[in-house]
Amino acid sequence: MNPLSCSFQGMEGKGMTSRFSGKLEVICGSMFSGKTEELMLRLRRAEYAKKTIVTIKHQIDNRKSYSCIVSHNGVKREAAPITSCEEGMRTLLKLVDENVEVVGLDEIQFFPKEIVAVILKMVEEGKRVIVAGLDMDFRAEPFGIVPELIALADEVVKLRAICMCCGDDANFTQRLINGEPAGYNDPTILVGGDECYEARCRRCFKIDRYKFRKVIEQLSVCKN
Ligand SMILES: [Zn+2]
Repeated sequence: MNPLSCSFQGMEGKGMTSRFSGKLEVICGSMFSGKTEELMLRLRRAEYAKKTIVTIKHQIDNRKSYSCIVSHNGVKREAAPITSCEEGMRTLLKLVDENVEVVGLDEIQFFPKEIVAVILKMVEEGKRVIVAGLDMDFRAEPFGIVPELIALADEVVKLRAICMCCGDDANFTQRLINGEPAGYNDPTILVGGDECYEARCRRCFKIDRYKFRKVIEQLSVCKN
């Protein structure tokens, strides 16, 4: 017997997997870039292919409907809401049983780091896992677990929105408080104020780049 295949069989017995059909797809981009639409399109195509699908959303996202994901153009799809805590991760493991072939997760940036291990387990079991979420927060910094998932993915799609100021391609999410650009240190949860979000290009995006400025200042001090 080929010694390689022999050792491979040995590894399989110790929990190594020989099923390589699993795949992780990441759909990312700013707000209004069509991430949820793209996720729903892929899930619909999987449905046409008669795959068994589970769609998951984060419970924090009560944007339009509790048990649905809804794209900005109004298309809906039923989804199971999951919380961030350990109980939520357990529910997810239970929902995605051995019969499930395709898993769709929306607003992935809101999930805790533990979900990365859960996602990898699913992929190693041969499932196709499609996640959609913001790659940057309103400070233009990498958002939560999304950069890690991008590194681990088989396929990454970064979608662009249209800048709501100038009409160029937009990769940034501008946070506005009472019509003015939000500052770096403004609270993430705003009490008693009017806030909204816009897609912006690099030129039109406005933020006090606190972290960048600090690094540059330190470098300038070193130089002197
Ligand atoms: Zn612009």
